[in-house]
Amino acid sequence: MKAEIVAIGSELLTPFRQDTNSLYLTEKLNQLGVEVIFKTIVGDNRQHLLSAAEMALSRGDLVIFMGGLGPTEDDLTREAVAEVLGLQLHRDDELLAKLEKRFAKHRIKMSPNNAKQADILAGAVVLPNSLGTAPGQWLAGNFDDQEKIVLLLPGPPHELKRVFEEECMARLRAKLPPSFIATRVLKVAMMPESECDARVAPIYKGYPDVETTILAGAGEIQLHLKMQSNSLEAAQEKVDRLAGEIEDELGDFVFSSRGESLEQIVGYYLQMRNATLAVAESCTGGLLTERITSVSGSSRYFLGGAVVYSNDLKTDFADVPAELIEKHGAVSKQVAAALAGGIRKRCKAALGIGITGVAGPTGGTEEKPVGLVFHALAGEGSTDVVERTFPGDRKRIRWFASQQALDMVRRKLV
Ligand code: AMP
Ligand code: MG
Repeated sequence: MKAEIVAIGSELLTPFRQDTNSLYLTEKLNQLGVEVIFKTIVGDNRQHLLSAAEMALSRGDLVIFMGGLGPTEDDLTREAVAEVLGLQLHRDDELLAKLEKRFAKHRIKMSPNNAKQADILAGAVVLPNSLGTAPGQWLAGNFDDQEKIVLLLPGPPHELKRVFEEECMARLRAKLPPSFIATRVLKVAMMPESECDARVAPIYKGYPDVETTILAGAGEIQLHLKMQSNSLEAAQEKVDRLAGEIEDELGDFVFSSRGESLEQIVGYYLQMRNATLAVAESCTGGLLTERITSVSGSSRYFLGGAVVYSNDLKTDFADVPAELIEKHGAVSKQVAAALAGGIRKRCKAALGIGITGVAGPTGGTEEKPVGLVFHALAGEGSTDVVERTFPGDRKRIRWFASQQALDMVRRKLV
């Protein structure tokens, strides 16, 4: 079964609202073994809605319309779908009575336009919506010589979820052959996407029935492996085998194979080694601390540290000698190392991190361009410094720097 989703609402065509419902639906449909082949977003415009509905209904076996089921002038979904399918809408008296009761309960007078929420496509099953006034509708039938299921669902995300989960999942499952999806997510740190793909493509190409998707972010690549089968065991075995081969190829670039974040992994290692960590951040401005402390239980290994933006505070809080800053500049290998060593001592931590760099977009020079960051990790008797020049805007550079620093801790403890 192939599905098609149509999201209706003019606000979804602005920069201010995103169609999140379709992401939720896609996840649920995939779990049922249903692939989504098209998604459309269309505004509250009769002509546009008719053309989107016609297109969608000509393609998918399962067509889901969501939004535009409310009482107002611009809620046109019912009417448009009825028109395209050549079906009548009839007003459901029982539903109407329920609507009136609902309004009475809240001591609000129901305005007449609300009644159209009780309009049902001929032959459709009403899907009760316990969280709102507009019910969903389920229509299964033969249209243009093809068996199709057409769903109308309310737009508000919490209502859509409730109606889909309570009214649609079981109905869909009953219509579908048993199907299972096995998945794995591998996460890779600080490797260029092109290199990653070049190394893993020859491996996953040998597994044509496993779908491999590569999602690249700043300093992190996620490999999503997915296989659909009528046997979960067989699918999982295959997905795990592919994951194992990719891990063998990428070695310690892979930091997680069960979905954990890099900060979680760093937390595991620190706890396992009974080690503590302190940080002195300049250009990341606390981002690294934020990430480390977003992990529950991080107080067991993270002691704290300082955001040392000014030169004076680098000296006051992390004991970086003023002469060192004078001599090499605040953005330098030497100052990064001194920050790491200084904060480690100050906080009596097993490991200290120092970060200093040029996050941009201003402040770069020929010698020290935007994106240049020095990361230092100080431990007992040794300090490692990594110099990188990251691409991108300020946000991306800062994220890269936090990622690099976390990865240094991981590699030190692995
Ligand atoms: P409607 O059903 O068109 O009256 O929409 C009701 C509310 O749900 C509005 O605030 C919409 O912005 C929101 N909404 C509608 N469709 C979606 C969607 N696809 N994703 C997220 N929110 C939506
Ligand atoms: Mg709307």
